[in-house]
Amino acid sequence: MEYMTRKLAPNKRIALVAHDHMKESLLNWASIRLNILQDHHLYATGTTGTLLSKELKLPIESLLSGPMGGDQQLGAKIAEGTIDMLIFFWDPMNAAPHDPDVKALLRLAALWNIPVATNIATADFILESYHINKVYHARIPDYQGYLAKRTK
Ligand code: PGA
Repeated sequence: MEYMTRKLAPNKRIALVAHDHMKESLLNWASIRLNILQDHHLYATGTTGTLLSKELKLPIESLLSGPMGGDQQLGAKIAEGTIDMLIFFWDPMNAAPHDPDVKALLRLAALWNIPVATNIATADFILESYHINKVYHARIPDYQGYLAKRTK
């Protein structure tokens, strides 16, 4: 695969998702990290977003609830280049009915090279990283090149 770069602005577009048993953990983490999160554009799946906007009193763009298609909406936004990073506290102890959607979301995040945190420590590292409030040139697949090869 050929690669190109995508310029990420200092204000990142951050998606936040937590499975039901992980919501409390995400809410606690987000309220501790409020001073950093408030500088960015926040997106979330439906239930997570509703709880977070009540807790944080910040504007959050809530998509559909995860099991109703919200994970897939986030995956589509990652593929379109409109989400820069993903904080996804998936539940390692309980099966989810929408496991295929969870896998698909994580797959697209890997493909499009966006930072992903699946636990508090990684989420802390990401928010405290040098790049969080600076321009960052992310390496992403060269879709036009990919398409040209396949349609030659
Ligand atoms: P929810 O979805 O925020 O609507 O609970 C999260 C998920 O399970 O993907």
